[in-house]
Amino acid sequence: MRIGIPHIGNLYIALKAIFKKLDVDYVAPPLNTRRTLSLGVKYSPEGLCVPFKLTLGNFIEIAELGADTLIMPGSYGTCRLGYYAKTQEQILHDLGYNIKMVQMGVSEQKFLGLVKIIKELANNAPWYKILLAYSFGHKKLNAIDRIERLVQKVRPVEIEKGTANKLYNMALKSIDEAEDVRTLKAVEKEYIDRLNRVEIDPEAEPLIVGVTGEFYVVLEPFSNYDVENELGKLGVEVRRTTFMSDWTKFSMFLNPLGIDEKDRIHKAAMPYLKRDIGGDGWESIGEKVLHNNEYDGIVHLAPFTCMPEIIAQNIMPTTRENIPVLTIICDEQMTKTGVLTRLEAFVDLLNRKRRAGTETRQRVAV
Ligand code: SF4
Repeated sequence: MRIGIPHIGNLYIALKAIFKKLDVDYVAPPLNTRRTLSLGVKYSPEGLCVPFKLTLGNFIEIAELGADTLIMPGSYGTCRLGYYAKTQEQILHDLGYNIKMVQMGVSEQKFLGLVKIIKELANNAPWYKILLAYSFGHKKLNAIDRIERLVQKVRPVEIEKGTANKLYNMALKSIDEAEDVRTLKAVEKEYIDRLNRVEIDPEAEPLIVGVTGEFYVVLEPFSNYDVENELGKLGVEVRRTTFMSDWTKFSMFLNPLGIDEKDRIHKAAMPYLKRDIGGDGWESIGEKVLHNNEYDGIVHLAPFTCMPEIIAQNIMPTTRENIPVLTIICDEQMTKTGVLTRLEAFVDLLNRKRRAGTETRQRVAV
């Protein structure tokens, strides 16, 4: 049995570690490229969202590498994600791939459901081995996200442009190669120290922009032309509340215990939307309201045809909290130049707004 799971951000690094510890033959998908997207677009029903198309492209590429058991995360919530595994399985069979699709219903079964599937895939490995492997994979995710948070801060203010990105890529490689917890801790410490020592402009007061929207396009840089990196290059500090390590921690362990990290966000969205509409639409609205006084602006990432984000996009301009929002629709038609032009114009607008605010405050003080 050769296992394959589609890409989302850096999750493959944790999965590689877990399956390696359990001697499971795991085929990591090649990083997303135009080819992945073209394959997905070619064989997907036209109206489906970019997460469906890219994950289908991943499945085709992993199947080409010999994977025969494909795992698709899914849930039976309001969003159509719950139907994707079945639809993709049918498409792959029609294309002649002899694969078995396993739907991982993490939303319903939480941690127990996940480890049961891992146990099955790992040839009934003992529980202690599964828990150790899972914990190691999760530690890798934690290390990656701690480093990424720091990269988001350094990128806009570094003197030599590109230094934070270079260190980030080196850190990812070393974390991927770490074979045990001690090495992993040493790698994390080394890169946090190196990032803290990057020469920065002490005078810089970067704009703060929150990146929010649908889970997949927020976490998978290929699907959004790496907007965080581009914002960083424009001197913007990016803030994001969605991280894979937090998501796994809450959805697997803390949500079942009644601790919901999104309570605050949902409460903030309540005056404008009173219920979950599937996907992450409720949270997108809540983020705008919640961070009104903290961010200069928000970049809202919404996959084309994603109903939850379309609803959020239409409600956002009606809120009392009037922080500027730039919605970027992610699909195969978007171009890098188009995204960059819109980001530059948005950042320009935020800069003017901040300058105008400072001048007004100075006038009032005089
Ligand atoms: S939330 Fe939207 S983009 Fe994400 S899987 Fe559902 S429909 Fe697609």
